[in-house]
Amino acid sequence: MQGIMQDWSLTVDKILEHAKRINPNREIVTRRVNGEIVRTTYSDLYDLSKQVSSALKDEGIGLGDRVATLGWNSARHMASWYGTMGIGAVLHTINPRLHPDQIAWIANHAEDKVLIFDTTFLPIIEAIKDQLETVKTFVIFADAASMPENTLGAVAFDLWTDGRTKDTPWGGFPEDTACGLCYTSGTTGNPKGVLYSHRSNVLHTLVTMNKDAMGMGADDVVLPVVPMFHANAWGLALSCPATGANMVMPGAQMDGASIYELLDSEKVTITAAVPTVWLMLLTYLQENNLKLPHLKKVIIGGSAIPEKILRAFEQDYEVEVIHAWGMTETSPLGTLGTLPPHLKAADIDQQMEQKLKQGRPPFGVELKIVDDEGHDLAHDGQVSGRLMVRGAAIAAGYFKGDGGDVLDDQGFFDTGDVANIDAYGTMQITDRAKDVIKSGGEWISSIDIENIAVGHPKVANAAAIGIYHPKWDERPLLIIQAAEGESPSKEDVLAQLDGKIAKWWTPDDVAFVDEIPLGATGKINKLALREMFKDYTLPTA
Ligand code: AMP
Repeated sequence: MQGIMQDWSLTVDKILEHAKRINPNREIVTRRVNGEIVRTTYSDLYDLSKQVSSALKDEGIGLGDRVATLGWNSARHMASWYGTMGIGAVLHTINPRLHPDQIAWIANHAEDKVLIFDTTFLPIIEAIKDQLETVKTFVIFADAASMPENTLGAVAFDLWTDGRTKDTPWGGFPEDTACGLCYTSGTTGNPKGVLYSHRSNVLHTLVTMNKDAMGMGADDVVLPVVPMFHANAWGLALSCPATGANMVMPGAQMDGASIYELLDSEKVTITAAVPTVWLMLLTYLQENNLKLPHLKKVIIGGSAIPEKILRAFEQDYEVEVIHAWGMTETSPLGTLGTLPPHLKAADIDQQMEQKLKQGRPPFGVELKIVDDEGHDLAHDGQVSGRLMVRGAAIAAGYFKGDGGDVLDDQGFFDTGDVANIDAYGTMQITDRAKDVIKSGGEWISSIDIENIAVGHPKVANAAAIGIYHPKWDERPLLIIQAAEGESPSKEDVLAQLDGKIAKWWTPDDVAFVDEIPLGATGKINKLALREMFKDYTLPTA
């Protein structure tokens, strides 16, 4: 027997429509790349998004077409987002921190037809324009006056949208239609595309707004420092308009002084970013003897939170820390570290110990841990295993089938993280099975570095591993086994990498060993190397 309820499909255009109807005057405040602060409202954002839809329709964009952005968090970026998704096209956020060749590879793989970007990234786009096989239209987030000279035939966003109809219809397609595409480098091999659906994004939004997750409402002022190109700014690009919270968009400036200025002037109540950003803010606060009177909570994720950041926020500034774990593949929020009821009255050290763990899954996310043969392990807070996740907003595979079948026979996705889970569902990451390095919240591919390094004639084998760094969480150390009778220098090896990887991927140090340990199948034994170098201090630390 079927229920007799309305068929109201879960599509994200309804989120912005709701914001316009219910919270029309709540604001989106943007610091543009030129430093100027501009203010708009959900009502105006809705109109601008509709104009983006009209412009895209004129470019021939329709259901399933990919529209890429290379942009900082801004109101114009939000309008591109809703304007694209509203007509059933797919908004592909590209991570500008990747090497330009990788950006071109990703744009071609996604078959992006339109590329909308901030002026900051014009040099990158100019450099790769001949490699872009599918992009027909370039749009720059600018008005006529600030439009930079370019050889792309690009149009200024404001001219592209000005005077257009605000009546382009939205929605009307099934809720499982694709709406967002985000590539992750947190896997082996080439970056892989996670393809969000309208339904998964709407359900993720509903789940993450609740009190034991991010807990936000219409009276909040939210500063997403986490970029929109990182899994929907951890969902905030959707949950802010869904609740009616004001948004404060930091643009390109994420240093301590710039973030503090916005937190203070806009009376921000909730903010979110990776630990590296908070370290810069805390240093700035301490050096200038400043306080955070308006801020109620800070969501910290992307990598494990250091205890000193946790204690500084909670004890020195009386700001609640919510430690979150998630992945691009999990939309991204998987667990959140709000205190469970049985620890609300616990002493401060017990609370801090709990908050250093990655937290508990909200309704809609299921977790389990398994051994190497896939057998379930106990949730006793002691035994660690591969962390597996299942839910309404978890990837079932990658775009175009890359990476093959990624689910186990019960439909769980293997996160590549190693964790334990206690009887209350609190998850704690204890290791990482995937062979990547995460630095300042961004992935560095160890395999790319190794492949280039072994191209040097004096190198027999190379392995890159992540070493703890106080600012970036991890930085790469490159370990080299020299070719027979050769003794390459650190400079030789680093010169081999120069220009072939993004500058910030360059290893902080090179170590030489007689022999790189190999596993049974001949693969480099990273576990053994991590053990060997566990007390290693980088010269940059
Ligand atoms: P991304 O897809 O770039 O968001 O990266 C997801 C990965 O980042 C996870 O699989 C973890 O390896 C790591 N990660 C994210 N949040 C945390 C956290 N709170 N603690 C430890 N590692 C984390």
